[in-house]
Amino acid sequence: MAATVIDGREVARLVGEEVRQEVEALVAQTGVAPGLATVLVGEDPASAVYVAGKHRACAEAGIASIHHPLPAGTSHEELAELLHALNADPTVSGILLQLPVPDHLEGAALTALIDPEKDVDGLTPISAGRLAQGVSGLRPCTPLGVIELMRRHEVELTGAEAVVVGRSDLVGKPLAALLLQANATVTVCHSRTRELPDACRRADVLVAAVGIARLVRGDWVKPGAAVIDVGINRLPEGLVGDVDFASARERAGLITPVPGGVGPMTIAMLLRNTVSAARAQALVRAPS
Ligand code: NDP
Repeated sequence: MAATVIDGREVARLVGEEVRQEVEALVAQTGVAPGLATVLVGEDPASAVYVAGKHRACAEAGIASIHHPLPAGTSHEELAELLHALNADPTVSGILLQLPVPDHLEGAALTALIDPEKDVDGLTPISAGRLAQGVSGLRPCTPLGVIELMRRHEVELTGAEAVVVGRSDLVGKPLAALLLQANATVTVCHSRTRELPDACRRADVLVAAVGIARLVRGDWVKPGAAVIDVGINRLPEGLVGDVDFASARERAGLITPVPGGVGPMTIAMLLRNTVSAARAQALVRAPS
């Protein structure tokens, strides 16, 4: 039987609506609207499209957003100065440094300058450490989106065999940590994994975050598994994921399409992180 196909756009719309209501409540309680600052260095067209999408989503949710476009030649010191100013600005609840940055800059070192309380991408070393230790903090948006899609489709994670293919700091590692926190038994696979198809066949929950078009074949999927495809690969025929959707949907119980699966959730979780950060900052500022 063919799998249920998850509608990521619809789930993202629902999350966006919830965020809009949270923003209204926060403004009513504190008089302060959440604000997201985005920083984009250079003129990479794909990054510009991503940032524009984030600003549109903020506007729909009632979140103020302030864009800081910087020339490609901006130095580390100039960027550091801007990030410190945003850290200190009480109207800024969340800061997003759009990656990748141009080659003369080091994205990880710059990201580390963001105040962890405003780290709405969840990528600073402090946020990663909080996640690894299971203490509260801001989590990376794409892994959060994957968990949210499964939660809304009532995928049982406790005791489940979860296999994550990919171990990047952006997706694979934080997702593995979130799955572990949700009491799944987690296997993380990567380019040196032996017998990848066999590892995948054990998965009740199979997540692909690799960047190789249609790497995961249908016969790697355990019948009835939840298959979540994070991959975005641009081919002449259009965007495709890391999973061979046509063959995998014949065996999976639940599957995400590309596009329209995980992608829309990333922005939705950014909005949610921004409101969470704003709420936490308002609590700190509130007189006791
Ligand atoms: P990275 O390139 O940072 O990481 C890719 C991972 O895949 C690495 O851990 C690598 O292993 C592993 N890998 C590479 N080849 C193989 C292979 N043959 N078998 C098994 N594992 C392999 O990518 P990201 O994590 O940043 O992104 C992954 C995909 O997700 C990309 O397509 C990206 O565009 C997409 N993406 C989508 C988002 C969304 O919003 N939907 C957000 C972020 C990313 P090793 O560590 O050994 O090199």
